[in-house]
Amino acid sequence: MSYKNHPMVSRVIFGRGSFNQLSDIVAPKRLNIKAPFIYLVDDVFKGNSWLTSRIPISYNDQIIYISADEEPKTSQVDELVEQIILDHKDRPSGIIGIGGGTILDLAKAVSILLTNEGEAKDYQGWDLVKTPAIYHVGVPTISGTGAEVSRTTVLTGPDKKLGINSDYTPFDQVILDPELTKDVPKDQWFYTGMDCFIHCIESLEGTYLNAFSQSYGEKAFDLCLEIFLNGNLEEKESQDKLMMASWHGGMSIAYSQVGVAHAMSYGLSYLLGTKHGIGNCIVFDQLEEFYPEGVKLFKQMKEKHSIELPQGLCKDLGDDEFNTMIRVALSLEPLWENAVGKQWKQIITKEKLRALYQKM
Ligand code: NAD
Ligand code: ZN
Repeated sequence: MSYKNHPMVSRVIFGRGSFNQLSDIVAPKRLNIKAPFIYLVDDVFKGNSWLTSRIPISYNDQIIYISADEEPKTSQVDELVEQIILDHKDRPSGIIGIGGGTILDLAKAVSILLTNEGEAKDYQGWDLVKTPAIYHVGVPTISGTGAEVSRTTVLTGPDKKLGINSDYTPFDQVILDPELTKDVPKDQWFYTGMDCFIHCIESLEGTYLNAFSQSYGEKAFDLCLEIFLNGNLEEKESQDKLMMASWHGGMSIAYSQVGVAHAMSYGLSYLLGTKHGIGNCIVFDQLEEFYPEGVKLFKQMKEKHSIELPQGLCKDLGDDEFNTMIRVALSLEPLWENAVGKQWKQIITKEKLRALYQKM
């Protein structure tokens, strides 16, 4: 048995208003005045001076606004890298991602591709990155994915949706300022928050579970119940706690794995572009068979917050389309092994997945 030696985020700052310290944090990392900091910022903040006026721009530093309407693509990473190389003669001092999982993943991937040759798609997989990335900082503005703490950056490529999993992927610095999440729309708050809840269920119910993952997973699970179901939390307390739940949920899957909802949601996302948070909710809603207790709680939370999930996503799909989703879902072997055990291939058939997708 060989155990995984897991890299972690090197530095983290937590607190409401801690975003104000961004300038002090990055200044010592400036290589020289020609080597800029590049800020990748969710374009939902364009024109929002409450946030953007606090981004410390000097010398050749640059803000690039990016839409989070679609999940990150390998081609998008390649284009950003090319743009940065063309715009600046010197290699940047650092990449700073400010946004949700979409922007955080782009920031991680761009920082890797600035020091590693080739295209982003060449690095989708496990431990294919050979050279350390440039300094990269993550500033989450919505809580739940755990992308701020994880060792992966999930990208859709020409033939697969798969992360760049590597020791160089985790951020060098994370700024956890729960105040930045104050304007997240309610539905999105629920979908991305449920990503965290589903991470907990899939980790805690999985065969890969160990004391390391369990200790983080149980904490995140309890926080989710407090936030979404039982607690009567004040808004600020709820924001603070969800940010920590996301962190713990991410830590929990770091040393175990996700499961059925994630595998099937990757299929939906690959074929239909369904986003991660809402896609996980649509799938998880149908998974009583695998996660009876978790799905029961999920339905209660959905009800409590009057969330209506889209229905009939798959009703007009043809055989080829179902087969594509099934192929993508089944290719995520570690997720199935974690969810069902080593004998998963005997239990998880194409027919079974098709029947589940047909309900969505
Ligand atoms: P997101 O980044 O896609 O953002 C969702 C929506 O919320 C967007 O419309 C965005 O503009 C908006 N938004 C974000 N912050 C806001 C704010 N403060 N105020 C108002 N609106 C705001 O959402 P997400 O759920 O955080 O991320 C999903 C992505 O994360 C997917 O691409 C998924 O693959 C990835 N992911 C990565 C990991 C990982 O470990 N790397 C884990 C899970 C998910
Ligand atoms: Zn997830």
